[in-house]
Amino acid sequence: MTYTREQLESLLALEDFHDIYAQADALRRETVGDVVHIRALLEFSNHCKRLCTYCGLNATDQKLSRFRMDPRDMIATAQEAARAGYRTIVLQSGEDPWYTPDRIGDIVKQIKKTGMAITLSCGEFPEDVYRYWRDCGADRYLLKHETSDPALYASLHPDSSLDARVACLRTLKKLGYETGGGFMIGLPGQTLSTIAGDLLLLQDIGCDMAGIGPFIPHPDTPLRDAPHGSTELTKRAVALARLLLPKANLPATTALGVLDGAQKENVFSCGANVIMRKVTPNNLKKLYQIYPASFSDVDIRTGRRETEAEIRSMQRTPV
Ligand code: SAM
Repeated sequence: MTYTREQLESLLALEDFHDIYAQADALRRETVGDVVHIRALLEFSNHCKRLCTYCGLNATDQKLSRFRMDPRDMIATAQEAARAGYRTIVLQSGEDPWYTPDRIGDIVKQIKKTGMAITLSCGEFPEDVYRYWRDCGADRYLLKHETSDPALYASLHPDSSLDARVACLRTLKKLGYETGGGFMIGLPGQTLSTIAGDLLLLQDIGCDMAGIGPFIPHPDTPLRDAPHGSTELTKRAVALARLLLPKANLPATTALGVLDGAQKENVFSCGANVIMRKVTPNNLKKLYQIYPASFSDVDIRTGRRETEAEIRSMQRTPV
């Protein structure tokens, strides 16, 4: 479907959004069906050279205890996830130069032997690196554009630019990755027009996946006093993303669940069809502090079973 920026802005502002939620839900059923894909999420390093002002991993945060997983432990964790029934693993980290392109490539090759699809989410790299990882077996790449407003982007990322971020996304798409963009709702200075622009940018890039989640302030970042993003607006953006990108994989984001567990369930009736479950070792989960949150410390197999049961309780089929 095509919408103008003005149309999307008016839709986001509607008093009663009920009809759009119903349209998004019907389209989701028609295009991607009643299944919900469960992805294993392995957060393997919280070291980051970047300065993103909203993120608890940013390089200036002195309070955070930093960790790096040994590649052998990453591979063992991935094997355990595969045995627990996962078919896709997302390998996510801060931008940590210790993991050279060759190291990541080797990890991808080893994990690929499990038969799982591999999604990388490690930040911005040159085209030759993305190509190499693709050749090693990486299938998908997640790199949210965060905000489509160039001035807001520059103020939140003193060491980067929106143009560079979007260029990475276009490169990933060109290299044949299933490409995941996305953005945050409620960044200070963001307007409904910005969100309309965010949605159109996802469509323009041709994103195959889009993570749309609320901003949550982290106490050790410059944005500590900013209010968190609205869960209602997050759901509205997910529903409109479904209308703009009918076949896309749209997760119910972890951040939405951190603010309100019920809304995270509810977003599956607004267009979402994917959920991520952490398989990060329990002693490290709490150190991957993008924003303050607490996480369950059950083992990988139990976590998977819990998520499957949650999906079944919503009359949907876990995959
Ligand atoms: N380094 C990789 C990158 O740049 O894409 C992946 C890791 S980064 C921590 C993953 C995502 O966390 C970001 O794309 C951002 O949207 C999200 N994030 C970071 N801080 C957040 C916050 N305070 N509230 C909500 N989401 C946040």
